[in-house]
Amino acid sequence: DPVLAVDDLRKRYGETVALDGVDLAVADGEFVAVVGPSGCGKSTLLRVLSGLEAQFDGRVAVGGTDVRAGGSDDVGMVFQEPRLLGWADVRENVAVGLPADVDPERPAARDRVDDLIETVGLDGFADSRPDELSGGMAQRVSLARGLAYDPAVLLLDEPFSALDRLTKADQQDHLLDVWERRGTTVVLVTHDVEEAVYLADRVVVLDGQPGTVASVVDVDVERP
Ligand code: ADP
Ligand code: ADP
Repeated sequence: DPVLAVDDLRKRYGETVALDGVDLAVADGEFVAVVGPSGCGKSTLLRVLSGLEAQFDGRVAVGGTDVRAGGSDDVGMVFQEPRLLGWADVRENVAVGLPADVDPERPAARDRVDDLIETVGLDGFADSRPDELSGGMAQRVSLARGLAYDPAVLLLDEPFSALDRLTKADQQDHLLDVWERRGTTVVLVTHDVEEAVYLADRVVVLDGQPGTVASVVDVDVERP
């Protein structure tokens, strides 16, 4: 069974149709990129998958559970802007992503957070504040926070588009590394087709207004 199942998803904002019948199934461990022109509904799709948007028609399930019945508890989200807490250090920022019923002071939780910090290549920076980090490092804190829940599906909304070209290439390889080592299912939204083809197993193209799936392309490339 797919870990993520979207069936005839429709979403409108007043008169604006944002998504007009999207079908999508993502298998466990797959890396799917969703591309399409600005305004085609990419962010709306991620907001529905993550449970941030509860008003929609159709069926959306994560791990077999409807997102409106708790399925979205099993997704982690990474945004374009890292959105870190400025007054908190890296460890505290990552701990924000832990499940609500986990006390971040418990040794097991601290170990988990330190593991994640290491996973994203920030060992030695656990006590740093966001203003002491580069843009790329801040984005990796955001990635670690998104993984803190150990989500079945990691959703990324244009996570690299605010970064310069070299930092972007670096972060893309970090993400591939994390994906390969953890086996997390990834859905990445981007307007950058080159990025999508480089990173993903499968590229889903959303149509222009209103958003429907125009095509699905299997990518078969050798990654470096
Ligand atoms: P993308 O991420 O592909 O740029 P969005 O999902 O942000 O597309 O937007 C899809 C459509 O829905 C656009 O026409 C956009 O203007 C509209 N839209 C998105 N969010 C809102 C909102 N909160 N209120 C009204 N319209 C919105
Ligand atoms: P990124 O941090 O993603 O590589 P940058 O290239 O902007 O993005 O990094 C800015 C600076 O931070 C560089 O000088 C880099 O060497 C340093 N830096 C980044 N990550 C680490 C790390 N894990 N340990 C030590 N220095 C780092």
